[in-house]
Amino acid sequence: MISVFNPYDGTIVDSITESNLEDVEEALSILDKNKKIIGNLPLYKRAEILFNTAKLIEKNSENLAISLVKEVGKTIKEARIEVRRTAEIFRLAGEEAKRIHGETLPFDSVKNSENKLGFFIRIPVGIIAAITPFNVPLALAAHKIAPAIAGGNSIIFKPSTLTPLTDLKLCQLLYESGLPEEALKVVVGPGETVGEAIVKDQRVRMISFTGSREVGFNIVKKAGIKKISLELGSNSALILSDKGDYKSCAEVTVKGGYAVAGQVCISVQRVLVHKKVLEDYLNYLIPLVENIKIGNPMKEETDMGPMITESAAKRVEEWIREAVNLGGKILIGGERDRTLMEPTVLIDVPLEAKVIKEEVFGPVVTIIPFESLEEAIKIANDSKYGLQAGIFTDDLEEVFYAIKNLEVGGIMVNEGPSYRADFMPYGGVKDSGIGREGVKYALEEMTEIKTICFNLKGGLS
Ligand code: NAP
Repeated sequence: MISVFNPYDGTIVDSITESNLEDVEEALSILDKNKKIIGNLPLYKRAEILFNTAKLIEKNSENLAISLVKEVGKTIKEARIEVRRTAEIFRLAGEEAKRIHGETLPFDSVKNSENKLGFFIRIPVGIIAAITPFNVPLALAAHKIAPAIAGGNSIIFKPSTLTPLTDLKLCQLLYESGLPEEALKVVVGPGETVGEAIVKDQRVRMISFTGSREVGFNIVKKAGIKKISLELGSNSALILSDKGDYKSCAEVTVKGGYAVAGQVCISVQRVLVHKKVLEDYLNYLIPLVENIKIGNPMKEETDMGPMITESAAKRVEEWIREAVNLGGKILIGGERDRTLMEPTVLIDVPLEAKVIKEEVFGPVVTIIPFESLEEAIKIANDSKYGLQAGIFTDDLEEVFYAIKNLEVGGIMVNEGPSYRADFMPYGGVKDSGIGREGVKYALEEMTEIKTICFNLKGGLS
């Protein structure tokens, strides 16, 4: 059995049967035998299923939000946003399903192809494995399942064993919406066994994974020849130039640094602040951090809930201690009560400290002062990660310098790195991953191109 714990009070939310390797085999053989069922569904029917799912999510929104609060520990306000986004992702996928098309190919643009005419179409990949992390169970599952359905694919879905309950509810809603049961199978079992068996199986033609860099590396080693899309971690940088609005930047720091107790892949982690505006920025930031209400995530007034487990919170506490031992200062926060970690701001931390170099994945923001934009971008790029970055400046020259030089998958100007709209191309460079999500772009990756060429005896004229 898998027991799912409430991260806030440690009570058991529910216990479910743990899937094993036989369940994986059974799921894959059903999906494999029946993959034509979804592949042959006309596009308007796939769209209908996706639109129906969006409606059912909205109808059950409060129930789903409460379920997220109980198993993830995110606040009810955050959970409602995740549910709204999830419905939106299904709706976007319903729209995109009707826009799957190929292109005509100008064969006579090369020699010896004068008599040829052709085009390509997009066909389903086959079985797609959707493997998801604990922190955003619904919306991240939607980013995989919705475009997979739009593309006519079957899905084996392995949610995180820490937070599988809301995902199981989502699967029920998908079946109710008209998705054939033979097109989606969910298995809830440990990553090291169940996850790895899925990754290695050659009937699975694509792995769509969101999670840690370490597991991402393991997947690449074990997968064999198949498509792989990886949405991994980050230690995102936010840059405040002396020509930027320090108040908005401080507000974005709070919004992006402490959402879901910092357990977001694009959390604001390193804030690079020009020395000329450092004092103004900090004077504005610290009271905002002081005002964050932490506690019971179910209460409407709570701004920040617990971390997922006590061991995760202890790790963050240890990293703060390491930063302080290396000479860093805590400007606010730093204390822990079980899974509740205080929103923390650090400064004067040497660049080799874990809170700067690694992904903190907790409510810790480290301020790094700089003197020139060139220096700031050098520090921002000194990372194995490259998901998103933000810059606050009113100087266009600086904006374009940042666009040209920041090594990331997305740059948010006068906005934080944590900004994401679900239709935009989203993903990282370097160890932050491979490929792009955002419904249209995931759909491109979740289809294969098939090229058709006609040799016309009579020529083209
Ligand atoms: P994780 O430990 O990597 O787990 C993610 C998923 O992989 C879980 O379902 C896990 O199953 C499974 N898994 C573990 N070992 C596996 C293996 N050997 N083969 C196949 N699957 C395996 O990540 P997490 O702690 O849940 O989530 C936090 C991480 O996700 C952070 O690094 C964060 O940055 C990243 N993330 C990235 C994005 C993005 O869009 N780029 C979004 C959200 C989160 P179990 O639950 O059974 O271990």
